[in-house]
Amino acid sequence: MDLYEYQGKELFSRFGIPISEGRLATTSAEARAAAEELGGQVVVKAQVLTGGRGKAGGVKLADGPEDAEAKAGEILGLDIRGHVVRKVWIERASEIAKEYYLSITFDRGAKKALFMLTTEGGIEIEEVAESNPDALARLHVDPLEGFQPYQARRLIYAAGIDDPDEQKQILDIVGKLYDCFVETDAMLCEVNPLIVTPEGEVRALDSKFTVDDNALYKHSDIAEMRDLEAYPPEERAAREKGVTYVKLEGEVGILGNGAGLVMSTLDVIALVGGRPANFCDLGGGGDAQGVVDALEIISADPQVRPILFNIFAGITRCDVVARGILQALSQTSIEHPIVVRFDGTNAEEGREILADAAPSNLHVEATMLDAAKRAVELAA
Ligand code: GDP
Ligand code: MN
Repeated sequence: MDLYEYQGKELFSRFGIPISEGRLATTSAEARAAAEELGGQVVVKAQVLTGGRGKAGGVKLADGPEDAEAKAGEILGLDIRGHVVRKVWIERASEIAKEYYLSITFDRGAKKALFMLTTEGGIEIEEVAESNPDALARLHVDPLEGFQPYQARRLIYAAGIDDPDEQKQILDIVGKLYDCFVETDAMLCEVNPLIVTPEGEVRALDSKFTVDDNALYKHSDIAEMRDLEAYPPEERAAREKGVTYVKLEGEVGILGNGAGLVMSTLDVIALVGGRPANFCDLGGGGDAQGVVDALEIISADPQVRPILFNIFAGITRCDVVARGILQALSQTSIEHPIVVRFDGTNAEEGREILADAAPSNLHVEATMLDAAKRAVELAA
């Protein structure tokens, strides 16, 4: 789950990482009031779940409340790479002498957390990595040993930060960022820029924060930060029902059990000349209610014509899925053609259950390829 800048900063602040004081606003009037409270010059920042806001006109300095109101008016409603701005963060403006970059993420190859630090901050890290790779200092942290302050010193020297006062502050921030990363079960904590003010104070001016979805059950406070309005309504409904659903562009509704199988199903649909309408994963359970929920979500998309069920049953049983399909058809008014391919546990029983009931819109196919072909024909 990605967090907004202001949410990431709130977590930074809990771990003692210095940030600037700010307020959230959803209207220009609120932005004005926030600027009044903060006093002096402020910066008005679009809150969207994407980076590069500065370049897209989503970060603007304002001289005072009136200007903040005007700047918020310009930024609210702006479309930044498909993300419409509905909230702005009003923050006390900082004077910037230097812009550094600091992040921690996973290096999956090394099976360790990886810190990256460079004095060439402010711009996209990919650009630094490409144009000046030597400027990017890296430090792996062994999960068993944990983080040791001497390692941070090595990172800071490697990045070429030689001012003792900066070194001291960054050493402290690196340690706190490690705690923040581990304790929130984050997958990425990025500070770009990490600024040094003309007075020599180091502070996080931006935050990019991703928390592991699978760990959210441990962090109800972070889970509550999820902004449901940032997701399309179908995806919201799916999430509430525990179904993994992503809307796509095509006409063939897809439902499978297991992300890998669903991905291959999308490929096979494309292979036979069709376009998938969605990605929908029933997961390992596949009980009748799960099937009903998923079918309701998929069939609510007006673009969907046929629906393809691709089930490879391991833990799931095909007879249970078959009953789920029949239950869904009896409870709802789904008239879409439904193509079913069953394989694995109780596939035969599943097919028999469907054959006995024989709803007119149901088509059973023996293989994934045949099922995909049939679905694409029905989509035409
Ligand atoms: P991003 O473009 O989405 O990464 O947004 P950032 O929060 O990183 O802001 C982009 C740029 O705006 C920063 O690199 C700074 O140069 C500038 N900026 C942001 N906040 C301030 C501020 O308080 N004062 C000044 N002078 N510049 C700022
Ligand atoms: Mn940034």
